[in-house]
Amino acid sequence: MADQPSEQTCALCQRTVSTVSKHHLVPKEEGGRYSETVPLCQPCHSTIHGTFTNKELKKTYHTIEALRAAEQLQAYLQWISRSKVERIRNRRRR
Ligand SMILES: [Zn+2]
Ligand SMILES: [Zn+2]
Repeated sequence: MADQPSEQTCALCQRTVSTVSKHHLVPKEEGGRYSETVPLCQPCHSTIHGTFTNKELKKTYHTIEALRAAEQLQAYLQWISRSKVERIRNRRRR
């Protein structure tokens, strides 16, 4: 196994993942072309855009803190952090 120096941390679920994509905290479509971006893993990124409209993102969820605290994301965040724990446990068992 080769070391992968490209591991990155998702700003939302805080898992270490190999691939992140940049999420514009204010969507480009809402005038956020030069807004701050945060690195998100793929499931988090698609969940955010599946849960909130660009207008909601601009108005309410334009900080990573607001996203982490969003009621609509709590079940997802619990699930994703639990799935990480299970993966570690499975590896130890073998
Ligand atoms: Zn994530
Ligand atoms: Zn995005």
